[in-house]
Amino acid sequence: MALNGFLEFFQREKTFRPKKRFTQGTIRYSLHKQANASLQSGINLKEVVKLPAGENMNDWLAVHVVDFFNRINLIYGTISEYCNETTCPTMSGGAKYEYLWADGETYKKPVQLPAPRYVELLMDWVENQINNETLFPVSTDVPFPKSFPSLCKKILTRLFRVFVHVYIHHFDRIFSIGAEAHVNTCFKHFYYFVTEFDLMSAKELEPLAVMTAQMCKD
Ligand SMILES: [Zn+2]
Repeated sequence: MALNGFLEFFQREKTFRPKKRFTQGTIRYSLHKQANASLQSGINLKEVVKLPAGENMNDWLAVHVVDFFNRINLIYGTISEYCNETTCPTMSGGAKYEYLWADGETYKKPVQLPAPRYVELLMDWVENQINNETLFPVSTDVPFPKSFPSLCKKILTRLFRVFVHVYIHHFDRIFSIGAEAHVNTCFKHFYYFVTEFDLMSAKELEPLAVMTAQMCKD
């Protein structure tokens, strides 16, 4: 499934929040274009996530983190009206998994929150990180902070939880609007990216491990 179709599909839907864009003419903009062009040609997702020769790993990370944020934002947007305090009083992934929110600032101790509130705080947090030019420099003249890879791991680990909740609690909605192939492609891309560079722990991947073993065996 071409990602182009995926994006067009979701752009017709209500957008959850504005899309983060790359500045035209920058290296990151061209990497973003390059990454999307290889997706559109329908080639092996396991291959397209690999770092192109001569490219910088932090740039590659930055581009993917922002793209995944945008796509997961759109995916959640399509189910958000079905995700409320009554349907989802906790941020769960089935009976076995529940996420508690802590950001080290407003929420110092982990707290139980309804899923929509948790996702809202999670997406706000990610948006604040990627819009912080000290953490995600806009200009390629400005170096990435030393903590950049570990920050990206944290962001991707948190974004994955939205996939967990959507797949386990709202896949009927995704299916009913015919978006399952698009969501699956986005998920596979995400999964191959995080496993290629060892960006998430097996423990965090566990809630979708059975599905992933089926879906990502090629
Ligand atoms: Zn929900």
